[in-house]
Order: sequence, then C-alpha cells, then structure tokens
Amino acid sequence: MNENQAETFHTPKIFPMTEDALREVIKKYPTPFHIYDEKTIRENFRKLRETFAWAPDFREHFAIKATPNPYLVEIMARDGAGTDCSSTAELYISEAAGVVGEKIILTSNDTPAEEFRKALELGAIINLDDITHIEYLEQKARLPEIISFRYNPADIMNDGNDIIGRPAEAKYGLTRKQIFEAYKICLDKGINRFGLHTMIASNERKSSTFIYTARIMFELAVKIKNELGITFEFINLGGGLGIPYRPDELPVDLKMIGDGIKKLFFEILVPNGLGNVRLAMESGRAMTGSAGWLVSTVLHEKNTYKNYIGLDSCMSDLMRPALYDAYHHITILGKENAPCVETYDVTGSLCENNDKFAIDRRLPKIEVGDVVIIHDTGAHGHAMGFNYNGKLRSAELLIRENGSVEMIRRAETLNDYFATLNFPNSRLKLKTK
Ligand SMILES: *Cc1c(COP(=O)(O)O)cnc(C)c1O
Repeated sequence: MNENQAETFHTPKIFPMTEDALREVIKKYPTPFHIYDEKTIRENFRKLRETFAWAPDFREHFAIKATPNPYLVEIMARDGAGTDCSSTAELYISEAAGVVGEKIILTSNDTPAEEFRKALELGAIINLDDITHIEYLEQKARLPEIISFRYNPADIMNDGNDIIGRPAEAKYGLTRKQIFEAYKICLDKGINRFGLHTMIASNERKSSTFIYTARIMFELAVKIKNELGITFEFINLGGGLGIPYRPDELPVDLKMIGDGIKKLFFEILVPNGLGNVRLAMESGRAMTGSAGWLVSTVLHEKNTYKNYIGLDSCMSDLMRPALYDAYHHITILGKENAPCVETYDVTGSLCENNDKFAIDRRLPKIEVGDVVIIHDTGAHGHAMGFNYNGKLRSAELLIRENGSVEMIRRAETLNDYFATLNFPNSRLKLKTK
C-alpha cells in the first residue's frame, strides 16, 4: 500500500513560491540553501499573540537559538516580540535586531560571567538557572533590578510522566525548596522586581501540557507570594510549542491552550492579587519552524541493497533526522502531485551512515538534477549546523512579503573553514576571493 495515499492531510505541506520562481532563485543562489518566508513567520507570531489576547499583557521572547539570524529576529521584533537569549552571541544578535532592555530574557544555564555582563549591559531580564548563580552574578558582575528563576518541577512530576519527559533528569532549573530560598535571598539583597520561569515541554502538540504547566506556575506564584510577599511582574511559560512535521499530524490547538490558561488565570492568579502578571513565552519552533525549507539538488542516484538519492546538502545543514530520528517531509520540485512509486533513502555526503534526511521514504521517481525541498527546517535547522568532515554550512535566503528574495547569510567557504587554523596560508594554498 502507498502510505502517502492512505494518510489524511491535516497539514498540507506547501512551498510559498511557484516552480518557475524557485528555479530563477536557484540560478542566482546555487543550492543548497535554507529559504525562509517572512509572511509565514509573521502569521505564526500573530496566532500566538491572539492566543493570549485576553491577558493583561503578553510577551513572546523569540528563542534566538531556533534561527539565530538578526534579519528573522527583526521581523518578529517589528511586530512586538522580544528575545530569549542563552549565549553571548545571541545577546549580540538581539541587540543587532534592535531588541534590548527588558524585551530580552537571558535564559541560559552554566552561564559564564561575560554573558551575565553583556546581558546587564543591555538591560536584559536575567533568569537564573541555579541558586548559586545569585552569588556568582553579584561577585562577577552585579545584581540586576529585576530577576527571575527557572523552576524545575520534578518534585511534582517525579512519576516520570511521559507527556513531559523526566524533569528529575533535566539539568535545568531550581528545585521547589531552592526556589523559595532564592527569592528570599534576593529580597534580603534588596531586589524588589521579580519574575518566574519554567520550560518543560519540547515539540509538544498537546494543549493539556501547556495548560498543566500554567497551573503549576500559577499555583507556585501564589504560594511564593503568600510566603514571601512577592508580587510577580511576569510568569514565563517557556517554549516547546510543537509543529506538525508530518502531514498527517494535527497542529497545536492554540485556541484550547488560550482558553485553558485564561480560565486558570482568573481562577488562581486574579483572586490572589496577581491579576496584573504579564504572561510570557519563549517560543522558537512555533514561530519559524514551518517558515523554512532546505532546498537541495540531487547529485547522484545509487542502487545497491537499497535505493539512495544523494543530495548536495548533508546533516550539517539539518541535523534533526540524525539527532532525533525526526521526520521532515520531502517534496520534489515539479513532482508535487506525481504518484509516490519509489522507496528511497535520501542522504547527504557526510561520512556517517546516519547522514540521511529520510529512510525508506515513498517518493515520486527522482532523477539526478531534481530539486528536493525538505520542509519545516526553519527552526533548529541551519542553526545546528557544524563543520565535521569539513562540511560547510549553506546560505540562508529570505522571501520578503513583497515576494522579493534576498540572501541573509552567504554560504560558508573553505576560507571560513580554515580561518581559525594557525597554519601558514601559503601552505594551505587557498584561493583568495
Ligand atoms: C530551546 C529553548 C526554547 C525554545 O524552544 P522551542 O522548542 O523552539 O519553542 C525556549 N526557552 C529555552 C530556555 C530553550 O532552551
């Protein structure tokens, strides 16, 4: 049976350009490249804002690590988004995109001093991952005006609830006991502006997980308030909103999440004097994931014990299939409606047998030279690239809302690859640009 014929298309996989337009783009910018769509990014962010339209205030801090390109951060910033940074480089990207001050939240872990200093310089909200970081921050930099802590809820999820994974095995956050102590220490040190944070889910599409997270956090905020007299300015529910990578998967029901969290907000926070709390999220994947595509060309077809299609891209352009066994939908340009009559492993050129974008995938008959579109690569795609085996990372292009296409990052060159090597250029014999 052809599985593609049997599947229900809940999430049609589209590409936001005609075949001819994409072929024109490829003439100018050779494959492989990731290409992002401004309109889809803005649409994804609008849907998230609408989810929380009832809240007194809502802020999305776009998780820069998903797609660390200031052009993309800027698109969301213009519509009001802040950023979630978890490294010094990401703080620079945020600043470059015009996002500074308390629109930034630094949610890192095992944080080096220079990163705290850069965050303070930008006036970012500092979200500490551990109780010992209060003293570290005070000694290596200074205490900020506003502070928050990341809560690890393993104490109430110690049954290894597989909706959410096993927080007890996660390196992140403070225990329940520590989190009370941490706010107490900060109060004693004279800090009087506070937020509360957690990040539990990852690529989660069940509404109940996010509603449950909100309940845990709202109840904790009330407990801390009652015990220490703190009125929180914000509660940040983290990221982790999933996307349907498979066409037969359902998208997240944002309406249900919004309604569920609203009910808890009025049941738990409002009667306890926390009705002005700003809700925040640090969504990455749900903003840019569906707004990016990896476009490659078929270099080789190889028939041995299996049929292989070899692309001009490899896992250094998209690691998710190798790293997480993740599914990414694949279409062939101009053959979108052709019957899936072949079974292929779609591979890259890296000397690792898990360098496969798809295994045993039913696809139309493919020829050398065909253009292959890998879908939903807009988050944790190019960003995870690496140079193992001397592989170079691809370019990034952006389709603007008016339809024009611009290159927002060039492809790496051999000069980039060798730039950090302390070896005489004359012996490397690199061609200069
Ligand atoms: C990765 C990460 C996010 C974003 O996660 P998505 O799954 O892309 O929404 C948000 N916050 C923190 C602390 C993260 O590490």
